Amino acid sequence: MYDFTYQRASSLDDAKSKFSGADDARYMAGGMTLLPVLKQRLDQPSDLVDLGFLDDLKGISEDGGNLVIKAMTVHHAVNTSDLVKSKIPALAHLAGTIGDPMVRNRGTIGGSLANNDPAASYPSAVLALNATIHTDGRTIAADDFFTGMFDTALNEGELITQVSFPIPEKAGYCHFPNPASRYPIVGVFVAKTADGPRVAVTGAGACVFQVPEMESALASNWSPDAVANVKCSADGLNEDIHASPEYRAHLITVMAKRAIEAAG
Ligand SMILES: Cc1cc2nc3c(=O)[nH]c(=O)nc-3n(C[C@H](O)[C@H](O)[C@H](O)COP(=O)(O)OP(=O)(O)OC[C@H]3O[C@@H](n4cnc5c(N)ncnc54)[C@H](O)[C@@H]3O)c2cc1C
Repeated sequence: MYDFTYQRASSLDDAKSKFSGADDARYMAGGMTLLPVLKQRLDQPSDLVDLGFLDDLKGISEDGGNLVIKAMTVHHAVNTSDLVKSKIPALAHLAGTIGDPMVRNRGTIGGSLANNDPAASYPSAVLALNATIHTDGRTIAADDFFTGMFDTALNEGELITQVSFPIPEKAGYCHFPNPASRYPIVGVFVAKTADGPRVAVTGAGACVFQVPEMESALASNWSPDAVANVKCSADGLNEDIHASPEYRAHLITVMAKRAIEAAG
């Protein structure tokens, strides 16, 4: 790890000002991705601006027809929240599948979305539920947020403050986990939303994506059978020691069927 200056933010404004006052700063949420990256000397920031003490950025509430989760809320809190369990049980379930107990007690929804790992679980929920990402300066629709591998619509220094999820009629999530890290090799989140069915896939490609063929099939017949014969192309899917593109394509259909079964 290279040397850096540690700075503890005392408010949102303080975080922004410490970030902009440094040469090349990074925000730190739980450090679950950032610290391993620094330990491997893959990044060399001048400053870390720690958001961990900003209680205003933690918590879960209901606002109108939306479930609102603040950026510094850890996965364990989402997994065990009675409100999340009652309004979007699939989201509570998803949070409980992330990593291990340490990761779930330190990792945050804001850090996960800002990082946009191609295998991260939350992006599939955010895209399928047609959520809105709120930052310190604007709101960004899920459709516009995920722009590529480890890439998002966030500008330099822009801070995620919260995510609002419209409460769907039904939703389900299922993933096939990497046996070591627990990251999804393929994960599928399905939702019956006010705008119709949405199906979002993580782990399979460079970035989370939707499956329009499945969404049309579900619009006329919300059932696991509706997607059973939808075969996804392996073109452009990820290939690594864990799974070939063809295997990942096959898993998309299997995980989608199971997610719809889970949604009911
Ligand atoms: C062993 C292991 C297993 C894991 N398994 C899974 C899994 O199965 N599924 C899954 O989805 N994830 C998994 N993760 C990732 C985990 O879910 C964390 O959420 C993720 O690593 C982000 O961590 P963090 O919230 O601590 O953010 P940090 O590591 O602190 O930050 C990550 C990045 O986001 C930026 N950032 C943080 N907060 C904000 C904000 N509010 N606004 C703007 N930028 C911000 C930081 O500057 C940094 O670039 C795993 C991680 C580990 C170490």
